[in-house]
Amino acid sequence: MSATVTRFAPSPTGALHLGHAYAALFAWRAARHAGGRFVLRIEDLDTCRARAGHEQALFDDLRWLGLVWGEPPLHQSTRGAAYAAALDRLDAQGLLYPCFCTRKEIQDEIARAASAPHLVHHGPDGPLYPGTCRALPVGERRNRVAAGEAHALRLDVAHAESVAGPLDWIDRGRGRQRATPELFGDAVLARKDVGAAYHLAVVVDDAHQGITLVTRGEDLFAASHLHRLLQALLGLPVPEWHHHGLVVDAKGRRMAKRDNAAALAALRARGVSPDRVWLLAEARLGGGVSVEGL
Ligand code: GLU
Repeated sequence: MSATVTRFAPSPTGALHLGHAYAALFAWRAARHAGGRFVLRIEDLDTCRARAGHEQALFDDLRWLGLVWGEPPLHQSTRGAAYAAALDRLDAQGLLYPCFCTRKEIQDEIARAASAPHLVHHGPDGPLYPGTCRALPVGERRNRVAAGEAHALRLDVAHAESVAGPLDWIDRGRGRQRATPELFGDAVLARKDVGAAYHLAVVVDDAHQGITLVTRGEDLFAASHLHRLLQALLGLPVPEWHHHGLVVDAKGRRMAKRDNAAALAALRARGVSPDRVWLLAEARLGGGVSVEGL
């Protein structure tokens, strides 16, 4: 069996907080426990929101926690060619279609369909895309793309599932799962503004970095169904997953960047030790102590 490789993959859009610390430590400990490696990935696809200053602060926070990473971090902003190659491969299988819809058009379409609720399906991120552009004639698609009309690329998930056949994946906490990627409907794999989208980039990069164990918060549990499908379609190695609980604040709400008191920099400034950060984060999985009460 190959050595365990885990990763921490933050978006550098704000200060790291207790929730990030837990995710990073969880990944790092899983690698260490197995005598494996821990790597970093900077998910800076969103170049407008990602800031160099945030990135430096992020490295400082992680070093303070005592984490070491064996190789330079991978930046998603440098990976355009790999994402384009993956999209080409899916396109060659006839599994993608251009989607010209604006957010507003999609909302209007869903609102219209609301009078026939059986036509509106809901996924983990809200109502699913109603499939408007899937029905466009091939000639029209081609003309609009050739005319330079802005478009995203969506996965035709029903077709993709029929090509891939039934798939399973393993979560170390919950056991074997039957993949149900249709949960997401026809997911966007390339955004209009950026040449890739989260689901595609994560799968391509996890394979590139040799990740054998994907650890992340259970808020992304459903996404793993789709990632498993993409791995099959792209002929990529299949990791195992371990989804962990989310650190919550005293009111039971998920930590967010607004929680300044839980920012690692603030905890550090107050003399809280890295070990204490781990214990604190673990306690707050169940909604325990408050940061203020440290
Ligand atoms: N970048 C994602 C986040 O900050 C995590 C990516 C992943 O684990 O797939 O939540």
